[in-house]
Amino acid sequence: MAPSKADFTLLLQLHEKDLSLDDMRRRISQVPEDVAAIQTEIDDEKTKLESVHAKSNEVQAKKKDLETTVAQKEASIKKHEGDLNQVKANDAYKALLKEIEDAKVVIEELETEILELMEVADEVSKEEKGIKSEIEGFTKEREGHIKELETKKTELEAELAKGEELRKGALESVPSELATLYEKTRERRKGIAVSRLHDKSCGECRVMATPQALLDVAKGSKIVMCDSCQRILLPGEKKETEKEAAA
Ligand SMILES: [Zn+2]
Repeated sequence: MAPSKADFTLLLQLHEKDLSLDDMRRRISQVPEDVAAIQTEIDDEKTKLESVHAKSNEVQAKKKDLETTVAQKEASIKKHEGDLNQVKANDAYKALLKEIEDAKVVIEELETEILELMEVADEVSKEEKGIKSEIEGFTKEREGHIKELETKKTELEAELAKGEELRKGALESVPSELATLYEKTRERRKGIAVSRLHDKSCGECRVMATPQALLDVAKGSKIVMCDSCQRILLPGEKKETEKEAAA
């Protein structure tokens, strides 16, 4: 049985439904990608904090080393001072005094170095605090965004499921020959099986339709395929003036 104008209207409705469902699917599949990108941003910030934290540990460890050396030097001074009372020879006495003096010089140098390290530690700790609070705000904001995206995805999935049910009905309402052609064409033509005319040309591939094709599409009593992109040609959207004239 030849299709009627009403059948082509149903086909157009099916096509429009598919466009909107495909758009939903695209938006749903985009979400995990967007979430992963945000997660990477969060991880990068955390890496920044880890590196400052490592720097802080390094400074503390170095300071501890120097303090240990100071303590050793102080112990050796104490020992030498004790030894001073024991030695009788003048040379040995002088040598001990020199050792004590040398150790005191070294301690002074080490203490200067320790003070400098404490200043560095202060700065690193300030930097660490700054990054920490920055990350807290940043992470909170980004995690909020992830949550929004996931909520949107759940909503879209529910909407898609409903739409897919309605789509079944829309497909069944189209005569089977036309429906089969539509499904096959949709598969072959990247999901777009229908093309509406636009100024006598195919709306999808922009190739001009033949006068006969234009006539047949306008009549709406047989299936017309675009010669170029092999999609089902349907009448274009009516302009306001035409709609008024038709009314
Ligand atoms: Zn075409």
